[in-house]
Amino acid sequence: MSQIRPQPGILEIAPYQGGQSHLDGVAEVVKLSSNENPFGPSDKAKEAFARTAHQLHRYPPTDHAKLRQAIGDVHGVDPGRVICGVGSDEIITFLCQAYAGPGDEVIHTEHGFSMYRISTLAAGATPVEVPERERVVDVDAILDACNERTRLVFIANPANPTGTMVGGNEVARLADGLPPQAILVLDGAYAEFVEGYDGGAALVEARDNVVMTRTFSKIYGLGGLRIGWGYGPAEIIDVLNRVRGPFNLSQTQLETAEAAVRDVDYTERCRADNARLRAWLAEALAEAGVPSDTSTANFILARFASPAEAEACDGWLKSQGIIVRRVNGYKLPHCLRITVGDEASCRRVAHAVRAFKGQA
Ligand SMILES: *Cc1c(COP(=O)(O)O)cnc(C)c1O
Repeated sequence: MSQIRPQPGILEIAPYQGGQSHLDGVAEVVKLSSNENPFGPSDKAKEAFARTAHQLHRYPPTDHAKLRQAIGDVHGVDPGRVICGVGSDEIITFLCQAYAGPGDEVIHTEHGFSMYRISTLAAGATPVEVPERERVVDVDAILDACNERTRLVFIANPANPTGTMVGGNEVARLADGLPPQAILVLDGAYAEFVEGYDGGAALVEARDNVVMTRTFSKIYGLGGLRIGWGYGPAEIIDVLNRVRGPFNLSQTQLETAEAAVRDVDYTERCRADNARLRAWLAEALAEAGVPSDTSTANFILARFASPAEAEACDGWLKSQGIIVRRVNGYKLPHCLRITVGDEASCRRVAHAVRAFKGQA
């Protein structure tokens, strides 16, 4: 047998399953499986993207200064403590690589985002799964699971795929209760969908053990371009910059993201549209007999009577050209995660679910 073997933990990684995007024989699918912005990026972002075609022979800057300044201006954070990455996934990877290794534990919750586990195993550390309470992150359960080996605790707020949030006081209590060697990572991928919410930035500033991650993949409609950022204490950001490749982001990524974040009118319009259509869709599904927790993000976790009913509804929706997300891998086999699309998509999926339930 070959003696060529990967590092411990690597073969335990179950490859990430992305949202499906094609259906055989269907030309016009309604894709509601990856929490993408149905309206795409702002025109200003698309113009910036096109302009960069003329500079492709130049290496990009390594310090991301202009993008960090734009993020600071718009989000009211200190640009000196912002790090930019290839999606927030890369920030999660840096955190695990820099702070967790063999013998260390990294906590994620029962229905938590799958990248936390993948990055933990890739770093050779041990993922520890903690129960949630009725699809909501349970601070006491996390604190109970902490010990002297705990290095990182990941929670998304709002959470994916549940759409639920924990309050600021609870998050602060979690940060305060962690052992001294542990970092709390607040994944704010959906923070912009919550009106007036800072994603945890104020807590980052008030503590020395909290890091926030953010992304351009959701409300900014740039999932295809791969840009995210993190905000944390200066010492931690310095550490993460040491493992970051100097040219991790292209000029195209940097300039497009800068234009996107500065177009605050567009972001606000997307937030308001999402809130209106999310409420409409949740009510339409509830009237059809499919309840959901109140969502704070750009998707709804639709609950069915059983895993079999969820699977049957998923099959029916596909037959109607609609792709949603099964979430068995997130221990929610009786649920389907449905992205809030544009108005026509919301009407189509609501109509199809009603028909599935025998009410149309
Ligand atoms: C979509 C999502 C992200 C974003 O990942 P990117 O790498 O920035 O595209 C991060 N966390 C959660 C919980 C998500 O749902």
